[in-house]
Amino acid sequence: PLSSKLIVASNRLPINISRDKEGRWVSGGMSSGGLVAALSGIPRDSFIWLGWAGCVVPPHDEPEVTSLLEAEGCVPVFLSDKIAKDHYNGFSNGILWPLFHYQTEDIEFNDEYYSAYSSANQAFADAIERIYEPGDLIWIHDMHLMLLPRMLRKQLHPADAKLHIGFFLHIPFPTSEVFHVLPWKRELLRGVLDSDLIGFHTYDYASHFLRTCTHVLGMETRPQGVLVQDRLAAVGVFPIGIEPHKFEEKLETVQVQDRIKELEVTFAGKKLIIGIDRLDYIKGIPHRLLGYEAFLRDNPESRGKVVLLQVAVPSRTDVPEYKKLKREIEQLVGRINGTYGNLLENYAPVQYLFRSIDFSELTALYTVADVCFVTSLRDGMNLVSLEYIVCQGAKVNAKDGPGVLILSEFAGASGSLIAGSIVVNPWNTDALSDAVRVALSMDVEGRRSKHDLLYKYATKYTASFWGASFIGELRKFMPLQPGSL
Ligand code: UDP
Repeated sequence: PLSSKLIVASNRLPINISRDKEGRWVSGGMSSGGLVAALSGIPRDSFIWLGWAGCVVPPHDEPEVTSLLEAEGCVPVFLSDKIAKDHYNGFSNGILWPLFHYQTEDIEFNDEYYSAYSSANQAFADAIERIYEPGDLIWIHDMHLMLLPRMLRKQLHPADAKLHIGFFLHIPFPTSEVFHVLPWKRELLRGVLDSDLIGFHTYDYASHFLRTCTHVLGMETRPQGVLVQDRLAAVGVFPIGIEPHKFEEKLETVQVQDRIKELEVTFAGKKLIIGIDRLDYIKGIPHRLLGYEAFLRDNPESRGKVVLLQVAVPSRTDVPEYKKLKREIEQLVGRINGTYGNLLENYAPVQYLFRSIDFSELTALYTVADVCFVTSLRDGMNLVSLEYIVCQGAKVNAKDGPGVLILSEFAGASGSLIAGSIVVNPWNTDALSDAVRVALSMDVEGRRSKHDLLYKYATKYTASFWGASFIGELRKFMPLQPGSL
């Protein structure tokens, strides 16, 4: 063919589908997930997005759903309810997610989950086989699809030198000692190694991966990748970013400007610290609360003058570990408010919201807050820190100047943002307390110069920069042809 296409494969399609009152399938339009923003730098009509339809579709409805989604440049993968659950909740969220974030204790290494994971990956391979033409580029995303590169290499024209596969892992890759625990470690590594280019957010994750290939499979590695028979599976570092203009445009709207004014009145005379996270054990929310509690204990003069607004977005609410974490957070919030709250002054040191907030409210909060407090125990990247930096850009020239980012050294973002933030170890409660004190007492010039570094980074290494650089690298593996991407 004269032109080649890009096939993006991710666990979920970016479009929600449902049935209307008459029972017809309808599309809910493009959702606004992280990957959607990250791929926004690539013209939408130049790639096909392939992924799970997001719900159970009876077999006789599959053609209807397929053509509905085709109109939006999407190709659905259909999975039975059981395979979808065991693949997504069981294996991906229940085994890979905690293991790759170093939470090895309560993992149930269930064979049935692995077999569903493998079946789901096979369903993706079959769906890709139906649309693949030699010369197409295939970009596979994340922990849900680690077996897919190998399946494709076997299944699609095994001798096809034009088959080019990229893989990107959106979560951390752990040290080899931790990865070693996984009963299916060889299968997963071999699965990924049949890619031409394997991308990670940070150098640490990439070097853990290289080391693990030697440790687990005895393979020879180079700084640029892993030797797999007669070819190199290249390994690269591509830190993801955000789309700053989306926040900057939102900030300009009347709705957000009005909300900012309201919030300024609400928090007048007080310093506002925000924590914005999904309610997940990787985010270190209890650690943050303990650090803040220590700050209130150590700095009595700050009581009544500082508020921590913690937004915890409900996530995986049916999983016992997440329920336990929610209770733990609620107890800590209660304890801090009980100890340091003040009825006469109507003061609660922690404001806690267990819900998601809309984009306008989020933008307003990012802009108003004096400090953004990120204490992840492990975090692939952490986009909240970048979003805060961009919104604080609006305050650079104001009298009070921009706010301060306190950032965990265990968030992928810390590698890039170290010079402009206060980097902390979330397990060190006294250091968290001190970081809050330092952040709140930093003079305006100090805050401006730190923010300047952060802002330059966040507006240069954007989501579209990320997408374009990965595709640019992957394309180097293919011979140029007229009309190609
Ligand atoms: N976010 C959201 N709803 C909210 C609050 C935040 O969708 O109520 C967004 C936030 O803007 C950010 C994302 O959720 O883009 C969180 O990304 P991050 O990388 O920080 O963490 P993740 O949840 O992916 O682990």
